[in-house]
Amino acid sequence: MSIEIVKSNICELMREFTDSYWRNKSETHSFPEEFWAKLSEGRWFGAVIPKEYGGLGLGVTELITILEEIAKNGAGMASYILLTNALGSLMVLKGAKEEIKRELLPKLVEGKLKLALAHTEPEAGSDALDIKTTATKVDGTYLINGRKIFVNNSRIADLLILVTRTCPISVAPKKSYGLTIFLVNSRDQTVRHTPMSKMGMNYFETCEVTVENLIVSEKMMLGGLNEGWPLLLDVYNIDRVAVAAMAIGTGMLTLNKAVEYAKKRIVFGRPIGMNQGIQFQLAEAYSQLEAARAVTFQAASLCDQHQQYWKEATIAKYTAVEASLYAADVAIQVHGGYGYLRSFDVERHWRDLRQLKLGPISQELTLALIGEHILGLPRSY
Ligand SMILES: Cc1cc2nc3c(=O)[nH]c(=O)nc-3n(C[C@H](O)[C@H](O)[C@H](O)COP(=O)(O)OP(=O)(O)OC[C@H]3O[C@@H](n4cnc5c(N)ncnc54)[C@H](O)[C@@H]3O)c2cc1C
Repeated sequence: MSIEIVKSNICELMREFTDSYWRNKSETHSFPEEFWAKLSEGRWFGAVIPKEYGGLGLGVTELITILEEIAKNGAGMASYILLTNALGSLMVLKGAKEEIKRELLPKLVEGKLKLALAHTEPEAGSDALDIKTTATKVDGTYLINGRKIFVNNSRIADLLILVTRTCPISVAPKKSYGLTIFLVNSRDQTVRHTPMSKMGMNYFETCEVTVENLIVSEKMMLGGLNEGWPLLLDVYNIDRVAVAAMAIGTGMLTLNKAVEYAKKRIVFGRPIGMNQGIQFQLAEAYSQLEAARAVTFQAASLCDQHQQYWKEATIAKYTAVEASLYAADVAIQVHGGYGYLRSFDVERHWRDLRQLKLGPISQELTLALIGEHILGLPRSY
């Protein structure tokens, strides 16, 4: 499927999801089931899953095109709904045993199963290796105990991708050794979900998750015992590129609204868009988004060519988040007082985008990585 066909299919799919649909979902905190059903019909959750498992067999370039188009055509950061399952499925593809892949991937691709990623803990966010959730081997199974926080969709998910420690940091040969990932039943009675009230991204729930004496079969392990970190890093690098694409799409969505408004709004007898003070802000926002877009697609292209791309991925995440937040802020400003109203939507997109400065990796941590690994400065974290 060519990029052009991907774009036109997504534009067509998005036609029925209007601004009021997304506004309503956000204000009533209800999961967009109708949107999920449409994504399932097109097997878009399986964008990067090979055809032999029922997926579309596309590359990361196509995946980020899909995400950008979904965001730009109205969904904004609700596009996360696709990303969570698409990358969760990729983790299953890369880390699960063949038998589990054959069983789960076709269902994931068809949207019959929902996934959630449970990595962050109350005391371990940026320091993602310092988790305390334990998995202890008991006969042929693992006994899991711990507390996770900020888990998107955990209560509606069928399966949690749960990151545990099987070797304490104190005895691990290196800090990145000892993480083990399991696919677990999110509805098991030993798993408790407590929703967290949040500023934006209210198309889906984010929960604190407590796990007490959950028993998991060894065959549900993703990646090797104690070797979960390389698998996480592999998928998290793609996540950075994908998050950048969603941010750019959302930034473009707000910018397009502001440009249309600037052409029509008459103040002092002429459209506000005639003022350079307005035009320059819009042109600057556009330029920043396009620059971020260039590095984002460069990262995806390198990834698809199996070349090193983590530097581009990290720069893409940083620049796309700054550019999209700037665009959303300009959009509020150009709308004047109306920009502050819920009914004009731009404030919602700004609130949704604001989360990206904090996660999946914070802006500070992206800069720390660039400082250390690209500029050769001393490690600061
Ligand atoms: C809405 C939402 C959804 C999320 N969804 C998920 C999910 O589905 N699954 C999941 O596992 N996690 C999820 N997260 C968690 C997210 O990945 C973390 O919030 C993020 O990694 C930051 O961790 P923290 O919140 O513990 O901040 P901390 O690590 O406590 O950092 C606090 C602040 O200090 C800064 N800081 C820390 N160390 C340094 C340093 N050395 N130099 C400079 N600055 C530093 C950080 O940048 C940040 O600004 C979500 C978070 C949010 C808000």
